[in-house]
Amino acid sequence: MTRVVVWGENVHDREVPRVREIYPDGMHGAIADLLRERLPDADVTTATLDQPSHGLGGDVLANTDVLLWWGHVAHEDVADEVVRAVHDRVLAGMGLVVLHSGHLSKVFRSLMGTSCHLRWRESDDREVVWTVAPTHPIARGLPPAFVLPAHETYSEFFDIPVPDDLVFVSGFTGGEVFRSGCCFNRGLGRVFYFSPGHETYPVYHQPVIGQVLANAVRWAAPAGGADVAVGSSPESATGWYEPVPTTWERADA
Ligand code: ZN
Repeated sequence: MTRVVVWGENVHDREVPRVREIYPDGMHGAIADLLRERLPDADVTTATLDQPSHGLGGDVLANTDVLLWWGHVAHEDVADEVVRAVHDRVLAGMGLVVLHSGHLSKVFRSLMGTSCHLRWRESDDREVVWTVAPTHPIARGLPPAFVLPAHETYSEFFDIPVPDDLVFVSGFTGGEVFRSGCCFNRGLGRVFYFSPGHETYPVYHQPVIGQVLANAVRWAAPAGGADVAVGSSPESATGWYEPVPTTWERADA
């Protein structure tokens, strides 16, 4: 079973009437519902900024396969020790899906190592999200392009490292373009950034967005495999990986 935690800042959701109207259960609640509909085998829970340790203390992170992160106005209120714990869990294999304004979260910036700034405008532009990697697992079941009738414009230059895979590119009425779906490998963990999700539009009620997020969770979940040491550089004796076969095994043996 994939264990998923949807982390929400939950500030606009409580304080801005228009956002509360669109997301009566919070944006994290809507995102969790989208995932539960599409991932019946997943255990999807939520956590918010106002909880002790932002809902990520104790053994929560150790028992999370994929963490989704939506934040905007309170990035600086996220405790550094929680940021460090999330960062370390990603390097150890936890998947991380960073949404919309989460591009400036401490967690994302620490994993990218760049400013993660971008250009933006709130002007109800139409956004067309183009699938530019149709064979990528995150593009599964998606059309060549889909439309958000009105959304906040995010535009290049987006100051991120060159993504390991680029799955979506968005265009806006104003002519801007933006790398809206970016994959990164960090240590043993997989990170996906997906830009749709401004709080004053019902983005997280759209089935196509649910499809993207469900695909992203499947892609980012730890795949298992080699037990690789992270967080240390062990001194390695010659032949430490032995015993290995010293002769070819015969196919007819
Ligand atoms: Zn926004």
